[in-house]
Amino acid sequence: MASVVIIGGGISGISAAYYLAKGGAGCTILESRTRLGGVIQTEHVEGCIIEAGPDSFLSAKPAAVELAGELGLAGEIIPSNDHLRKTYVRRAGRLIPLPDGLMMMVPTKILPLVTTGLVSWGTKLRMGMELLRAPKPRSGDESIARFIQEHYGNEAVDYLAEPLLSGIYGGNPEDLSVTSVLPRFVQLANQYGSLTRGVLAERAKAGRNGPPQPLFRTLRGGLGQMVEAVVQAIRKHAEIRQVRAETIERTAAGFRIRAGGDWTEAASLVVGCEAHSASRLLAGVDARLGELLGQVPYSSSITLALGFEAADFPAPPDGFGFLVPKKERRTLAACTWVGTKFSYRVPEGKIVARCFIGGAEAAAALSESDESLAAAATRELQEIAGISARPRFARVFRWPRSMAQPTVGHPARVAEIEARVAAIPGLHLAGNAYSGIGIPDCIRLGRQAAGRILAG
Ligand SMILES: Cc1cc2nc3c(=O)[nH]c(=O)nc-3n(C[C@H](O)[C@H](O)[C@H](O)COP(=O)(O)OP(=O)(O)OC[C@H]3O[C@@H](n4cnc5c(N)ncnc54)[C@H](O)[C@@H]3O)c2cc1C
Repeated sequence: MASVVIIGGGISGISAAYYLAKGGAGCTILESRTRLGGVIQTEHVEGCIIEAGPDSFLSAKPAAVELAGELGLAGEIIPSNDHLRKTYVRRAGRLIPLPDGLMMMVPTKILPLVTTGLVSWGTKLRMGMELLRAPKPRSGDESIARFIQEHYGNEAVDYLAEPLLSGIYGGNPEDLSVTSVLPRFVQLANQYGSLTRGVLAERAKAGRNGPPQPLFRTLRGGLGQMVEAVVQAIRKHAEIRQVRAETIERTAAGFRIRAGGDWTEAASLVVGCEAHSASRLLAGVDARLGELLGQVPYSSSITLALGFEAADFPAPPDGFGFLVPKKERRTLAACTWVGTKFSYRVPEGKIVARCFIGGAEAAAALSESDESLAAAATRELQEIAGISARPRFARVFRWPRSMAQPTVGHPARVAEIEARVAAIPGLHLAGNAYSGIGIPDCIRLGRQAAGRILAG
Protein backbone atom coordinates (compact mmCIF):
# COMPACT_ATOMS: atom_id res chain seq x y z
CA MET A 1 0.00 0.00 0.00
CA ALA A 2 1.46 3.35 -1.03
CA SER A 3 1.64 6.26 1.39
CA VAL A 4 -1.46 8.14 2.55
CA VAL A 5 -1.54 11.63 4.04
CA ILE A 6 -4.62 13.01 5.80
CA ILE A 7 -4.88 16.78 6.31
CA GLY A 8 -7.07 17.66 9.30
CA GLY A 9 -7.48 15.61 12.46
CA GLY A 10 -11.16 16.35 13.09
CA ILE A 11 -13.66 13.49 13.12
CA SER A 12 -13.63 13.37 9.29
CA GLY A 13 -9.87 12.92 9.10
CA ILE A 14 -9.50 10.52 12.01
CA SER A 15 -12.41 8.39 10.78
CA ALA A 16 -10.54 8.01 7.49
CA ALA A 17 -7.42 7.04 9.47
CA TYR A 18 -9.40 4.53 11.52
CA TYR A 19 -10.95 2.78 8.52
CA LEU A 20 -7.57 2.76 6.75
CA ALA A 21 -6.01 1.14 9.83
CA LYS A 22 -8.84 -1.36 9.94
CA GLY A 23 -8.02 -2.27 6.36
CA GLY A 24 -4.33 -2.67 7.26
CA ALA A 25 -3.10 0.66 5.85
CA GLY A 26 -1.04 3.28 7.64
CA CYS A 27 -1.18 7.05 7.18
CA THR A 28 0.24 10.36 8.30
CA ILE A 29 -2.17 12.87 9.83
CA LEU A 30 -1.25 16.55 9.64
CA GLU A 31 -3.20 18.56 12.21
CA SER A 32 -2.51 22.19 13.03
CA ARG A 33 -4.11 22.11 16.49
CA THR A 34 -2.37 20.62 19.51
CA ARG A 35 -5.02 17.89 19.80
CA LEU A 36 -7.12 15.68 17.53
CA GLY A 37 -10.90 15.80 17.31
CA GLY A 38 -11.35 19.21 15.65
CA VAL A 39 -14.48 20.79 17.07
CA ILE A 40 -15.17 17.68 19.19
CA GLN A 41 -13.74 18.47 22.61
CA THR A 42 -14.92 17.23 26.00
CA GLU A 43 -13.83 18.78 29.28
CA HIS A 44 -14.49 17.84 32.89
CA VAL A 45 -15.28 20.70 35.25
CA GLU A 46 -16.37 20.17 38.87
CA GLY A 47 -17.75 16.73 38.09
CA CYS A 48 -19.67 17.96 35.03
CA ILE A 49 -19.01 16.68 31.51
CA ILE A 50 -18.76 19.75 29.30
CA GLU A 51 -19.01 19.50 25.54
CA ALA A 52 -17.14 22.43 24.01
CA GLY A 53 -18.41 21.67 20.50
CA PRO A 54 -21.03 19.10 19.47
CA ASP A 55 -22.88 17.30 22.24
CA SER A 56 -24.58 14.44 20.36
CA PHE A 57 -25.37 12.94 16.98
CA LEU A 58 -28.62 12.21 15.18
CA SER A 59 -29.82 8.63 15.72
CA ALA A 60 -31.30 8.46 12.25
CA LYS A 61 -27.87 8.53 10.56
CA PRO A 62 -26.02 5.31 11.40
CA ALA A 63 -22.31 6.04 10.79
CA ALA A 64 -21.55 7.38 14.30
CA VAL A 65 -23.28 4.50 16.08
CA GLU A 66 -21.47 2.06 13.79
CA LEU A 67 -18.06 3.63 14.49
CA ALA A 68 -18.73 3.68 18.23
CA GLY A 69 -19.67 -0.01 18.03
CA GLU A 70 -16.49 -0.90 16.14
CA LEU A 71 -14.44 0.97 18.75
CA GLY A 72 -15.98 -1.10 21.54
CA LEU A 73 -18.07 1.82 22.77
CA ALA A 74 -21.54 0.35 22.09
CA GLY A 75 -22.18 0.08 25.83
CA GLU A 76 -21.29 3.74 26.27
CA ILE A 77 -23.94 5.03 23.87
CA ILE A 78 -26.76 6.81 25.67
CA PRO A 79 -29.98 8.32 24.28
CA SER A 80 -31.28 11.83 24.76
CA ASN A 81 -33.89 11.84 27.55
CA ASP A 82 -36.75 12.21 25.11
CA HIS A 83 -39.38 11.72 27.81
CA LEU A 84 -38.22 15.12 29.16
CA ARG A 85 -37.93 16.72 25.73
CA LYS A 86 -39.62 20.07 25.66
CA THR A 87 -38.07 23.01 23.86
CA TYR A 88 -39.15 26.57 24.49
CA VAL A 89 -39.07 29.45 22.02
CA ARG A 90 -38.86 33.07 23.16
CA ARG A 91 -41.67 35.23 21.89
CA ALA A 92 -42.48 38.75 23.12
CA GLY A 93 -40.29 38.21 26.18
CA ARG A 94 -41.94 34.91 27.18
CA LEU A 95 -40.84 31.29 26.78
CA ILE A 96 -43.45 29.30 24.89
CA PRO A 97 -43.06 25.53 24.36
CA LEU A 98 -42.80 24.24 20.82
CA PRO A 99 -46.13 22.53 20.22
CA ASP A 100 -46.10 18.78 20.76
CA GLY A 101 -45.98 16.74 17.55
CA LEU A 102 -43.72 19.11 15.67
CA MET A 103 -41.29 17.37 13.33
CA MET A 104 -38.72 20.15 12.85
CA MET A 105 -41.12 22.81 11.61
CA VAL A 106 -43.86 20.44 10.41
CA PRO A 107 -46.93 20.18 12.67
CA THR A 108 -48.39 16.69 12.96
CA LYS A 109 -50.90 17.08 15.82
CA ILE A 110 -53.94 19.32 15.70
CA LEU A 111 -54.70 20.09 19.36
CA PRO A 112 -51.20 21.32 20.35
CA LEU A 113 -51.16 23.49 17.23
CA VAL A 114 -54.57 24.97 17.98
CA THR A 115 -53.66 25.78 21.60
CA THR A 116 -50.08 27.06 21.14
CA GLY A 117 -49.33 30.71 21.78
CA LEU A 118 -46.25 30.56 19.57
CA VAL A 119 -47.98 31.45 16.31
CA SER A 120 -51.08 33.50 15.46
CA TRP A 121 -54.48 32.17 14.39
CA GLY A 122 -53.71 33.12 10.80
CA THR A 123 -50.65 30.86 10.78
CA LYS A 124 -52.52 28.05 12.56
CA LEU A 125 -55.20 28.18 9.89
CA ARG A 126 -52.58 28.20 7.17
CA MET A 127 -50.83 25.23 8.74
CA GLY A 128 -54.13 23.34 8.82
CA MET A 129 -54.92 24.23 5.21
CA GLU A 130 -51.49 22.95 4.16
CA LEU A 131 -52.94 19.46 4.49
CA LEU A 132 -54.85 20.12 1.28
CA ARG A 133 -51.81 21.01 -0.83
CA ALA A 134 -51.44 18.99 -4.01
CA PRO A 135 -48.02 17.74 -5.18
CA LYS A 136 -46.26 20.39 -7.25
CA PRO A 137 -43.03 19.49 -9.04
CA ARG A 138 -40.19 21.86 -8.10
CA SER A 139 -37.41 22.88 -10.36
CA GLY A 140 -34.05 23.60 -8.83
CA ASP A 141 -32.95 24.56 -5.37
CA GLU A 142 -34.44 27.27 -3.16
CA SER A 143 -33.96 28.68 0.31
CA ILE A 144 -35.50 27.04 3.37
CA ALA A 145 -37.23 30.33 4.17
CA ARG A 146 -38.99 30.31 0.79
CA PHE A 147 -39.91 26.64 1.03
CA ILE A 148 -41.37 26.92 4.54
CA GLN A 149 -43.02 30.24 3.76
CA GLU A 150 -44.80 28.62 0.83
CA HIS A 151 -46.11 25.80 3.02
CA TYR A 152 -46.79 27.52 6.34
CA GLY A 153 -46.26 31.27 5.99
CA ASN A 154 -43.77 33.87 7.27
CA GLU A 155 -44.46 33.41 10.95
CA ALA A 156 -43.49 29.71 10.69
CA VAL A 157 -40.17 30.85 9.21
CA ASP A 158 -39.56 33.43 11.98
CA TYR A 159 -40.65 31.37 15.01
CA LEU A 160 -39.97 27.77 13.91
CA ALA A 161 -37.52 27.40 11.01
CA GLU A 162 -35.18 30.25 11.91
CA PRO A 163 -34.63 29.41 15.59
CA LEU A 164 -34.37 25.67 14.92
CA LEU A 165 -31.80 26.13 12.15
CA SER A 166 -29.83 28.78 14.02
CA GLY A 167 -29.33 26.30 16.83
CA ILE A 168 -27.95 23.69 14.39
CA TYR A 169 -26.15 25.63 11.65
CA GLY A 170 -25.71 29.06 13.17
CA GLY A 171 -27.21 29.95 9.80
CA ASN A 172 -30.00 31.84 8.17
CA PRO A 173 -33.00 30.14 6.49
CA GLU A 174 -32.94 32.88 3.83
CA ASP A 175 -29.55 31.54 2.70
CA LEU A 176 -29.64 27.80 3.47
CA SER A 177 -30.49 25.34 0.70
CA VAL A 178 -33.63 23.32 1.30
CA THR A 179 -32.38 20.56 -1.02
CA SER A 180 -29.20 20.14 1.05
CA VAL A 181 -30.51 20.71 4.56
CA LEU A 182 -34.04 19.26 4.38
CA PRO A 183 -33.89 16.76 1.50
CA ARG A 184 -36.53 14.57 3.06
CA PHE A 185 -39.02 17.43 3.25
CA VAL A 186 -38.39 18.20 -0.43
CA GLN A 187 -39.12 14.56 -1.30
CA LEU A 188 -42.29 14.60 0.81
CA ALA A 189 -43.46 17.85 -0.78
CA ASN A 190 -42.88 16.37 -4.24
CA GLN A 191 -44.66 13.15 -3.39
CA TYR A 192 -47.52 14.32 -1.19
CA GLY A 193 -47.79 18.07 -1.73
CA SER A 194 -48.47 18.60 1.97
CA LEU A 195 -45.49 18.18 4.30
CA THR A 196 -47.80 17.35 7.18
CA ARG A 197 -49.53 14.59 5.24
CA GLY A 198 -46.14 13.33 4.05
CA VAL A 199 -44.64 13.15 7.54
CA LEU A 200 -47.74 11.39 8.89
CA ALA A 201 -47.74 8.86 6.03
CA GLU A 202 -44.03 8.10 6.47
CA ARG A 203 -44.45 7.80 10.21
CA ALA A 204 -47.29 5.31 9.76
CA LYS A 205 -45.02 3.20 7.54
CA ALA A 206 -42.10 3.42 10.00
CA GLY A 207 -44.42 2.56 12.90
CA ARG A 208 -44.55 -0.96 11.57
CA ASN A 209 -40.78 -1.31 12.03
CA GLY A 210 -40.48 -1.24 15.83
CA PRO A 211 -40.39 1.39 18.59
CA PRO A 212 -39.31 4.98 17.90
CA GLN A 213 -35.61 5.74 18.24
CA PRO A 214 -34.31 8.53 20.46
CA LEU A 215 -33.74 11.66 18.42
CA PHE A 216 -30.12 12.06 19.55
CA ARG A 217 -27.48 9.78 20.95
CA THR A 218 -24.17 10.49 22.57
CA LEU A 219 -21.49 8.79 24.66
CA ARG A 220 -21.78 8.55 28.41
CA GLY A 221 -18.42 10.24 28.99
CA GLY A 222 -18.84 12.78 26.18
CA LEU A 223 -17.96 12.69 22.51
CA GLY A 224 -14.28 13.07 23.39
CA GLN A 225 -14.49 9.36 24.26
CA MET A 226 -14.88 8.60 20.57
CA VAL A 227 -11.84 10.67 19.65
CA GLU A 228 -9.75 8.99 22.37
CA ALA A 229 -10.86 5.55 21.22
CA VAL A 230 -9.99 6.31 17.59
CA VAL A 231 -6.58 7.67 18.60
CA GLN A 232 -5.95 4.51 20.60
CA ALA A 233 -7.07 2.30 17.69
CA ILE A 234 -4.85 4.03 15.10
CA ARG A 235 -1.77 4.58 17.23
CA LYS A 236 0.21 1.73 15.66
CA HIS A 237 -0.81 2.66 12.12
CA ALA A 238 -0.81 6.45 12.00
CA GLU A 239 1.93 9.00 12.40
CA ILE A 240 0.36 12.12 13.89
CA ARG A 241 2.16 15.37 13.20
CA GLN A 242 1.13 18.63 14.82
CA VAL A 243 1.74 20.92 11.89
CA ARG A 244 -0.25 23.08 9.47
CA ALA A 245 -0.27 21.93 5.84
CA GLU A 246 0.66 24.91 3.70
CA THR A 247 0.67 23.82 0.06
CA ILE A 248 -0.19 20.79 -2.05
CA GLU A 249 1.44 20.05 -5.40
CA ARG A 250 0.88 17.18 -7.81
CA THR A 251 3.76 14.87 -8.67
CA ALA A 252 4.12 11.98 -11.09
CA ALA A 253 3.45 9.54 -8.22
CA GLY A 254 0.67 11.52 -6.52
CA PHE A 255 1.18 14.59 -4.34
CA ARG A 256 3.67 16.41 -2.21
CA ILE A 257 2.55 18.45 0.76
CA ARG A 258 4.54 21.21 2.39
CA ALA A 259 4.01 21.45 6.14
CA GLY A 260 6.25 23.16 8.67
CA GLY A 261 8.86 23.77 5.98
CA ASP A 262 9.17 20.04 5.03
CA TRP A 263 7.75 18.28 2.01
CA THR A 264 5.91 14.95 2.46
CA GLU A 265 5.15 12.66 -0.49
CA ALA A 266 1.82 10.85 -0.73
CA ALA A 267 0.24 8.54 -3.27
CA SER A 268 -3.20 9.23 -1.77
CA LEU A 269 -4.36 12.35 -0.02
CA VAL A 270 -7.43 12.89 2.14
CA VAL A 271 -8.16 16.58 2.59
CA GLY A 272 -10.30 16.51 5.72
CA CYS A 273 -10.03 20.12 6.85
CA GLU A 274 -12.60 22.91 6.50
CA ALA A 275 -13.39 23.80 2.85
CA HIS A 276 -11.92 27.30 3.22
CA SER A 277 -8.62 25.74 4.27
CA ALA A 278 -8.89 23.06 1.55
CA SER A 279 -9.52 25.83 -0.97
CA ARG A 280 -6.15 27.47 -0.29
CA LEU A 281 -4.33 24.13 -0.23
CA LEU A 282 -5.81 22.83 -3.49
CA ALA A 283 -5.82 26.04 -5.55
CA GLY A 284 -2.46 25.10 -7.09
CA VAL A 285 -3.64 21.57 -7.93
CA ASP A 286 -6.88 22.65 -9.64
CA ALA A 287 -7.74 26.36 -9.66
CA ARG A 288 -11.45 25.78 -10.29
CA LEU A 289 -11.64 23.23 -7.45
CA GLY A 290 -9.97 25.75 -5.14
CA GLU A 291 -12.50 28.38 -6.23
CA LEU A 292 -15.50 26.08 -5.65
CA LEU A 293 -14.25 25.08 -2.20
CA GLY A 294 -13.76 28.73 -1.32
CA GLN A 295 -17.40 29.40 -2.23
CA VAL A 296 -18.73 27.30 0.66
CA PRO A 297 -19.53 29.83 3.38
CA TYR A 298 -18.75 28.99 7.00
CA SER A 299 -20.29 30.44 10.13
CA SER A 300 -18.60 30.95 13.47
CA SER A 301 -20.02 29.92 16.80
CA ILE A 302 -19.33 30.23 20.50
CA THR A 303 -20.51 27.87 23.21
CA LEU A 304 -20.51 28.76 26.89
CA ALA A 305 -20.98 26.29 29.70
CA LEU A 306 -22.36 28.04 32.77
CA GLY A 307 -22.35 25.87 35.90
CA PHE A 308 -24.75 26.63 38.78
CA GLU A 309 -25.64 25.20 42.16
CA ALA A 310 -29.13 23.69 41.85
CA ALA A 311 -29.93 25.20 45.25
CA ASP A 312 -29.66 28.66 43.67
CA PHE A 313 -32.58 27.88 41.35
CA PRO A 314 -36.15 28.33 42.60
CA ALA A 315 -37.10 25.11 40.73
CA PRO A 316 -35.26 22.79 38.36
CA PRO A 317 -35.41 24.13 34.78
CA ASP A 318 -38.10 22.55 32.64
CA GLY A 319 -37.30 20.77 29.35
CA PHE A 320 -34.20 20.58 27.19
CA GLY A 321 -33.82 24.34 26.88
CA PHE A 322 -34.86 27.24 24.70
CA LEU A 323 -34.32 28.87 21.33
CA VAL A 324 -34.28 32.61 20.67
CA PRO A 325 -35.57 33.61 17.21
CA LYS A 326 -33.65 36.30 15.34
CA LYS A 327 -36.54 38.75 15.84
CA GLU A 328 -36.10 38.48 19.62
CA ARG A 329 -32.33 37.85 19.76
CA ARG A 330 -29.66 39.97 21.37
CA THR A 331 -26.76 37.51 21.58
CA LEU A 332 -27.87 34.03 22.65
CA ALA A 333 -29.43 31.85 19.96
CA ALA A 334 -30.07 28.81 22.15
CA CYS A 335 -29.56 27.29 25.56
CA THR A 336 -29.60 23.62 26.60
CA TRP A 337 -30.06 22.40 30.17
CA VAL A 338 -27.36 19.76 29.86
CA GLY A 339 -28.42 17.55 32.79
CA THR A 340 -31.98 17.31 31.49
CA LYS A 341 -31.08 16.45 27.89
CA PHE A 342 -28.59 13.70 28.81
CA SER A 343 -28.02 11.54 31.88
CA TYR A 344 -24.54 11.20 33.48
CA ARG A 345 -23.44 14.71 32.44
CA VAL A 346 -24.21 16.78 35.51
CA PRO A 347 -24.03 15.48 39.09
CA GLU A 348 -26.87 15.85 41.57
CA GLY A 349 -27.02 19.34 43.01
CA LYS A 350 -25.62 21.10 39.94
CA ILE A 351 -27.17 22.66 36.85
CA VAL A 352 -25.28 23.37 33.65
CA ALA A 353 -26.58 25.71 30.94
CA ARG A 354 -24.94 25.28 27.56
CA CYS A 355 -25.39 28.58 25.76
CA PHE A 356 -24.95 28.85 22.01
CA ILE A 357 -24.07 31.98 20.06
CA GLY A 358 -24.03 31.61 16.29
CA GLY A 359 -23.85 33.42 12.98
CA ALA A 360 -23.39 37.19 12.92
CA GLU A 361 -23.61 37.47 16.73
CA ALA A 362 -20.74 34.96 17.11
CA ALA A 363 -18.59 36.63 14.47
CA ALA A 364 -19.01 39.95 16.30
CA ALA A 365 -18.24 38.43 19.71
CA LEU A 366 -15.24 36.20 18.87
CA SER A 367 -12.67 38.75 20.01
CA GLU A 368 -14.37 39.55 23.32
CA SER A 369 -12.78 38.23 26.50
CA ASP A 370 -14.10 35.12 28.23
CA GLU A 371 -15.14 37.26 31.20
CA SER A 372 -17.18 39.69 29.16
CA LEU A 373 -18.83 36.89 27.12
CA ALA A 374 -19.70 34.93 30.25
CA ALA A 375 -21.07 38.04 31.97
CA ALA A 376 -23.22 38.96 28.96
CA ALA A 377 -24.49 35.38 28.52
CA THR A 378 -25.31 35.17 32.23
CA ARG A 379 -27.30 38.42 32.14
CA GLU A 380 -29.25 37.27 29.12
CA LEU A 381 -29.86 33.79 30.53
CA GLN A 382 -31.08 35.25 33.81
CA GLU A 383 -33.51 37.51 31.98
CA ILE A 384 -34.81 34.86 29.58
CA ALA A 385 -35.07 31.98 32.07
CA GLY A 386 -36.29 34.25 34.88
CA ILE A 387 -33.55 33.30 37.35
CA SER A 388 -31.19 35.27 39.54
CA ALA A 389 -28.66 32.46 40.18
CA ARG A 390 -25.03 33.33 39.44
CA PRO A 391 -22.80 30.72 37.79
CA ARG A 392 -20.09 29.10 39.93
CA PHE A 393 -18.04 28.36 36.82
CA ALA A 394 -18.03 29.49 33.21
CA ARG A 395 -16.17 27.98 30.27
CA VAL A 396 -16.08 29.66 26.87
CA PHE A 397 -15.23 27.93 23.57
CA ARG A 398 -14.81 29.75 20.26
CA TRP A 399 -15.24 28.03 16.91
CA PRO A 400 -14.33 30.51 14.17
CA ARG A 401 -15.55 29.54 10.68
CA SER A 402 -16.21 25.92 11.71
CA MET A 403 -19.78 25.26 10.54
CA ALA A 404 -20.21 24.89 6.79
CA GLN A 405 -23.32 26.58 5.43
CA PRO A 406 -25.00 24.65 2.61
CA THR A 407 -26.49 27.70 0.94
CA VAL A 408 -28.81 27.77 -2.10
CA GLY A 409 -26.95 26.18 -5.02
CA HIS A 410 -24.95 23.87 -2.73
CA PRO A 411 -25.99 20.60 -4.45
CA ALA A 412 -24.74 21.86 -7.84
CA ARG A 413 -21.53 23.19 -6.25
CA VAL A 414 -20.86 19.85 -4.53
CA ALA A 415 -21.57 17.91 -7.73
CA GLU A 416 -18.94 20.00 -9.54
CA ILE A 417 -16.47 19.60 -6.66
CA GLU A 418 -16.97 15.83 -6.72
CA ALA A 419 -16.50 15.67 -10.49
CA ARG A 420 -13.24 17.63 -10.29
CA VAL A 421 -11.95 15.51 -7.41
CA ALA A 422 -12.81 12.31 -9.30
CA ALA A 423 -10.59 13.54 -12.15
CA ILE A 424 -7.55 13.76 -9.84
CA PRO A 425 -6.40 10.21 -9.03
CA GLY A 426 -5.56 9.71 -5.35
CA LEU A 427 -7.38 12.82 -4.09
CA HIS A 428 -10.26 12.50 -1.59
CA LEU A 429 -12.27 15.08 0.34
CA ALA A 430 -13.99 14.56 3.67
CA GLY A 431 -15.55 17.11 5.96
CA ASN A 432 -18.66 19.03 6.84
CA ALA A 433 -18.84 21.08 3.63
CA TYR A 434 -20.10 18.41 1.27
CA SER A 435 -23.05 16.26 2.24
CA GLY A 436 -24.14 17.22 5.74
CA ILE A 437 -22.49 18.98 8.67
CA GLY A 438 -23.38 16.40 11.33
CA ILE A 439 -20.88 14.03 12.92
CA PRO A 440 -22.37 10.93 11.20
CA ASP A 441 -22.03 12.64 7.80
CA CYS A 442 -18.37 13.44 8.50
CA ILE A 443 -17.64 9.88 9.63
CA ARG A 444 -19.38 8.51 6.54
CA LEU A 445 -17.20 10.62 4.24
CA GLY A 446 -14.01 9.68 6.13
CA ARG A 447 -14.95 6.01 5.86
CA GLN A 448 -15.77 6.41 2.17
CA ALA A 449 -12.38 8.01 1.47
CA ALA A 450 -10.61 5.16 3.27
CA GLY A 451 -12.68 2.58 1.40
CA ARG A 452 -11.71 4.08 -1.95
CA ILE A 453 -8.03 4.18 -1.02
CA LEU A 454 -8.10 0.57 0.19
CA ALA A 455 -9.89 -0.50 -2.97
CA GLY A 456 -6.93 0.99 -4.85
C1 LIG B 1 -20.32 24.41 18.34
C2 LIG B 1 -20.69 23.27 17.43
C3 LIG B 1 -21.71 22.41 17.79
C4 LIG B 1 -22.04 21.34 16.96
N1 LIG B 1 -23.01 20.46 17.38
C5 LIG B 1 -23.20 19.32 16.69
C6 LIG B 1 -23.98 18.26 17.24
O1 LIG B 1 -24.46 18.35 18.37
N2 LIG B 1 -24.13 17.12 16.50
C7 LIG B 1 -23.53 16.97 15.27
O2 LIG B 1 -23.71 15.91 14.65
N3 LIG B 1 -22.76 17.94 14.75
C8 LIG B 1 -22.56 19.09 15.43
N4 LIG B 1 -21.72 20.05 14.94
C9 LIG B 1 -21.10 19.84 13.62
C10 LIG B 1 -19.98 18.79 13.68
O3 LIG B 1 -19.45 18.72 14.98
C11 LIG B 1 -18.87 19.15 12.73
O4 LIG B 1 -19.40 19.41 11.44
C12 LIG B 1 -17.83 18.04 12.61
O5 LIG B 1 -17.38 17.63 13.88
C13 LIG B 1 -16.71 18.54 11.73
O6 LIG B 1 -15.69 17.59 11.69
P1 LIG B 1 -14.52 17.77 10.64
O7 LIG B 1 -13.48 16.78 10.95
O8 LIG B 1 -15.05 17.76 9.26
O9 LIG B 1 -14.00 19.26 10.85
P2 LIG B 1 -13.25 19.91 12.13
O10 LIG B 1 -13.72 19.31 13.39
O11 LIG B 1 -13.42 21.38 11.94
O12 LIG B 1 -11.76 19.49 11.91
C14 LIG B 1 -10.97 20.02 10.88
C15 LIG B 1 -9.54 20.00 11.38
O13 LIG B 1 -8.67 20.39 10.33
C16 LIG B 1 -7.62 21.15 10.91
N5 LIG B 1 -7.00 21.92 9.85
C17 LIG B 1 -7.54 22.92 9.12
N6 LIG B 1 -6.69 23.36 8.20
C18 LIG B 1 -5.54 22.63 8.35
C19 LIG B 1 -4.29 22.62 7.70
N7 LIG B 1 -4.03 23.45 6.68
N8 LIG B 1 -3.35 21.76 8.11
C20 LIG B 1 -3.57 20.91 9.16
N9 LIG B 1 -4.77 20.87 9.82
C21 LIG B 1 -5.74 21.72 9.40
C22 LIG B 1 -8.31 21.98 11.97
O14 LIG B 1 -7.40 22.40 12.95
C23 LIG B 1 -9.32 20.98 12.53
O15 LIG B 1 -8.84 20.28 13.64
C24 LIG B 1 -21.36 21.14 15.74
C25 LIG B 1 -20.33 22.01 15.37
C26 LIG B 1 -19.98 23.07 16.20
C27 LIG B 1 -18.86 23.99 15.81
